[in-house]
Amino acid sequence: SDHQLIYPPSPDQMDWSSLYPHYVVDEPQEDQPAPAEPESSPERDLAPLRPKRISADVEVADIGCGFGGLLIALAPTMPSTLILGLEIRVSVTQFVEDRIKALRAQNDAADLYRNVGVLRANTMKFLPNFFRKAQLAKIFICFPDPHFKTRKHKQRIVSTSLNSEYAYVLRPGGIVYTITDVPDLHEWMVQHFEAHPLFERVPEEEQEADPCVAIMRTETEEGKKVERHKGQKYVALYRRLEDPEW
Ligand code: SAM
Repeated sequence: SDHQLIYPPSPDQMDWSSLYPHYVVDEPQEDQPAPAEPESSPERDLAPLRPKRISADVEVADIGCGFGGLLIALAPTMPSTLILGLEIRVSVTQFVEDRIKALRAQNDAADLYRNVGVLRANTMKFLPNFFRKAQLAKIFICFPDPHFKTRKHKQRIVSTSLNSEYAYVLRPGGIVYTITDVPDLHEWMVQHFEAHPLFERVPEEEQEADPCVAIMRTETEEGKKVERHKGQKYVALYRRLEDPEW
């Protein structure tokens, strides 16, 4: 349940160092503020620890990353961009973490997979705790759970209010990538993004020219499953517009 989910009170307090250890910045000792109070004072014990800094920000997020196929395929195509998978299931998150560790070890000499990480999170609740406004360049929503029954629609990962959160964490010009094999869910996602004033659909020609689209179709675990069953895949990309001037 959410009680066991760990999330920072704000993005500035998020410690990314364990996810991206190769990006940790060695800060000189004198940069550390001297403790204002004696070691044992209660004020000091309650003060939050300053997170270790890393030299880049996460710019690509995979919402509900599952077993991590998209993350692993994207990582070498954008080697200097930090990519993060967010997944709610504990065992699946652990699996992806182990997968990344193994790939890093195997490809140590080539510096590969250092830019990819995974985090257990409920993205329907805590997205703005992890990312600052306009931090992200790309958000992937690949084969989200369809929640077929009408009374379950509120659990869908695309909705008017969630789209506002995606708009908040995405920079103007940033893109939300969606793909599903469920026609009704595709329609739902299209309707909700079309209705949102901060998104516009990316034209098909531009969509098909984007290398991330091919990766999303073929490298996600669900995409592979749909392929095996010779199913259809429905893609829609939405660009985050500039904030309107008041
Ligand atoms: N994107 C992957 C793919 O294409 O192969 C996995 C798709 S799977 C059908 C949907 C995933 O989203 C599951 O792994 C599920 O645990 C995860 N998920 C569902 N709700 C979530 C939430 N609120 N926050 C994070 N992950 C979630």
